[in-house]
Amino acid sequence: MASHGNSKASPAIGIDLGTTYSCVAVWHNNRVEIIANSQGNRTTPSCVAFTENERLVGDAAKNQTDMNPTNTVYAVKRLIGKRFSETCVQNDIKQWPFKVVAGPNDRPKIVVKYQGEDKLFYAEEISSMILVKMKEVAEAYLDCAVKKAVITVPAYFNDSQRRFTKDAGAIAGLNVMRIMDEPTAAAVAYGFDKIGENTNGKNVLIFDLGGGTFDVALLSITYGKFEVKATAGDTHLGGEDFDDRLVDHCVKEFKRKYNKDITGNVRALRRLRTACEGAKRTLSFSAQTMIEVDYLYDGIDFSTRISQARFEELNLDLFSRCTDLVDKCLRDAKTEKRMVDVVVLIGGSTRIPKVQQLLQDFFGGKELCNAINPDEAVAYGASVQAAKLNGQGSKEVQDLDLVDVTPLSLGVAIRGGKLLVVVPRNTPIPTKKKHVLTTSVDYQTSAYLAIYEGERAETKHNNLLGEFVLDNIDSALKYVPQIDVCFEIDANGILNVSAQDRSSGNNNKIMINNEGGRLSIEEIEKMMQDAEKYKADDEEYRKRYDAWNSLDRYSYQMRNMLRDTKIAAMLPFSTKINIEDAIGKSINWVEQNPLPQVWESESKMNELKSICKPTEK
Ligand code: AMP
Repeated sequence: MASHGNSKASPAIGIDLGTTYSCVAVWHNNRVEIIANSQGNRTTPSCVAFTENERLVGDAAKNQTDMNPTNTVYAVKRLIGKRFSETCVQNDIKQWPFKVVAGPNDRPKIVVKYQGEDKLFYAEEISSMILVKMKEVAEAYLDCAVKKAVITVPAYFNDSQRRFTKDAGAIAGLNVMRIMDEPTAAAVAYGFDKIGENTNGKNVLIFDLGGGTFDVALLSITYGKFEVKATAGDTHLGGEDFDDRLVDHCVKEFKRKYNKDITGNVRALRRLRTACEGAKRTLSFSAQTMIEVDYLYDGIDFSTRISQARFEELNLDLFSRCTDLVDKCLRDAKTEKRMVDVVVLIGGSTRIPKVQQLLQDFFGGKELCNAINPDEAVAYGASVQAAKLNGQGSKEVQDLDLVDVTPLSLGVAIRGGKLLVVVPRNTPIPTKKKHVLTTSVDYQTSAYLAIYEGERAETKHNNLLGEFVLDNIDSALKYVPQIDVCFEIDANGILNVSAQDRSSGNNNKIMINNEGGRLSIEEIEKMMQDAEKYKADDEEYRKRYDAWNSLDRYSYQMRNMLRDTKIAAMLPFSTKINIEDAIGKSINWVEQNPLPQVWESESKMNELKSICKPTEK
């Protein structure tokens, strides 16, 4: 099929910014291509590490975790858009080897040692580093600059989490064309995989169990139109929780066997966690395996056997929670189990046999669809959306029609701390909904409006999104003023609220001030500059390292050549002594100056070369 639209337009990529792994895809050569990174991996760990000399992102960062646990940052998706004092944040911090402190407005900041200094980062800055990496992976493959992207988020992400994800994209220098729900992206991938088959009128349930989050969504597909009927999920349920359970199990085992408590030792825990994750993966395919860590603690080698059955027992409550949430999603969508045509498995953790079995039992033995790659489906769908928004892609891409819904009810606080719902959950977006409020005291001229999201009746149990005051209400007896409150949600699921007093006309329209927790344009600018600066630092480091490394290699190459008796015999004695002396000095210098300036290494190199010339010939 001929490509549609302007094929010369700069490309737009789809990025699945996962808690544990990220994946990038692009519409290219008339189809979706999942792009492998320079290591050849189609997913990249969502991990950033800081060292004495450099900053590492992706596989390189993950691979050095055990040696540098306190400066290796991962799972920041769990912090994005959250407050430091939230219980779930506090619980996460306890599990992590890296440090997180409270920043301005109760926003968490991650503390690392980088180039010998303490540096503090917001979660969106770390996310932006991962996004830059994904952008670079795409640029290397496409051989051109990439500036536009669709980024996916769990359906359960609230307004603030979506906004901060968008900010992360902006800091990475990306024009974020759309924040897309992960299950919608997965459904698009399923729909594209089935082109040619009749998917029309099908109800598709997306079951997405990843590393850190669980999402379930029911969608209907009608003539290329993907409509999310309902979503449910838990931002804190996934593979890492299963790893945690295994780690706990091993810690207890260690205590029982050796009467030693390893919980205070960050490095030991990190190494144990890596072994547990590996064992968990193996247990998806075999009945039992070993968890082994040499020199785990106090010189003791740890080794234990674990069976699939024991692993399932340790996690059964978590697995069951997934099916409970599927039930909730169906109830919200007012759809019976038997009306679900296809159940699509997404996310690495759906490889766990018990998870599959519980889900299959829930649907009365129905076959589950695992035809699409669980690690790549979300990025796949995001790239289709990106191509559509970018005016590229085939007819099927252009015909795609995506309808998302609000994951949580949105409303305003009214007297007695009650939530007045203005936009019920699962309302298709974009949407604009109005409600008329009034005053509760005679001659009241200003009103305080607090905006909440959540399903509970009392605002104190819901999540405060922002608050503002509407002044200059025309003075009148209570209940007389009519204040129009308007909730407007754009296609990214981002909310703006305004209020207007009818009697005083249009002067009092106020946009929501999101708790001061939002980043200002200046802050985003500053972070973009920092991101550029870190990139420049990384390049500078690489140049310095390369110059130093060449000198080191050359010195040893010359030394080895001189050790060759035939070559040495050809040189006059005094020349040989001279060269040996220069090489010795050079090797010493290299050892004592681990990261000199480029010019220093180069001038040492020139010096050495001029002396060694006779040997080279
Ligand atoms: P995702 O966020 O979708 O990339 O999922 C990553 C999660 O899937 C991690 O927690 C992995 O440990 C987990 N995972 C990957 N492969 C397997 C497997 N074979 N069995 C169990 N869990 C797996």
